[in-house]
Amino acid sequence: MARILIVEDEQHIADGLRFNLEEEGHDADVASNGERALGLILGERRPFDTVILDVMLPGKDGFAVASELRAAGQYVPILMLTARGRPEDVLRGFEAGADDYLPKPFDLSILIARVNGLLRRRRWNEQDAPQGGAADVYTFAGRTLDFGAMEVRMAGRSHRLTLMECELLRYLVKNAGQPVSRRAILEQVWGLHEETDTRAIDNFIVRLRRYLEDRPAAPKYLQTVRGVGYRFVPQP
Ligand code: CA
Repeated sequence: MARILIVEDEQHIADGLRFNLEEEGHDADVASNGERALGLILGERRPFDTVILDVMLPGKDGFAVASELRAAGQYVPILMLTARGRPEDVLRGFEAGADDYLPKPFDLSILIARVNGLLRRRRWNEQDAPQGGAADVYTFAGRTLDFGAMEVRMAGRSHRLTLMECELLRYLVKNAGQPVSRRAILEQVWGLHEETDTRAIDNFIVRLRRYLEDRPAAPKYLQTVRGVGYRFVPQP
C-alpha cells in the first residue's frame, strides 16, 4: 500500500481520484491548495510515496509547489496534471521538478497506471543492490552515479537526483556511446507512447549537465547529436 497525496482544488476530481486510488489499495489524502500541500508534505513524519499535483491551483500553483519541494530537498515523485494543448506547461513542470505529467482531462485508468509506474520505479531505486549484492553505482571520469542513493557525486560535491533524472541517467548509461533519440527516451524512460512534445526531455538534459559537466554550456559527457537526440560518452 502506498501513501499518495492528491493536490487538486476541484472537489469532484479530487474525490474521484481518491476513490479510485483507494480501490487500488492505496492510502490517499487530498490537499485543496498549494500551501496546504507543502505543509502536509514537508511537515509529515510518515512520508508520501507519490504526489499527484494539479498545475492550476488557487494561490501557489503546481509549478511553485514542485519547485519549493525540490528546493527543500524533498524528492517525492510528482505526477503533474497539466492543461491539454499547453506544451509549455509540460516543459515548465519538468523544469520545476515534476517526474511525469498527464494532460487534463485524463482517463482514470491511465492515471492509475502512471501512478503505479512511479511507485514501481521508486521501489526499484530503493533496492540498493539489485544484482548479486553489487552496489547500484556507476563511475566515470571522477563522477559517481549512485542509483541506489539517487545521487551524483564528484570532486567533493553531490547532487540529489529526482526519480526520473535517475531513470534517464540509467538509460543513457545503458546506451553509452550510442545516440538515443528524444522519442526513444520518452518511450523507454517515461513509457509515453502518445503524441508528446519531445522538447520536455531537453530540460532534463540541461539539469543533468549542470550536475555532471565541468562546463554545462560545452558538454563533453552528455553530447547533443544534431537531428537525433543525445549521446552519453563516459570517456570523450
Ligand atoms: Ca485545479
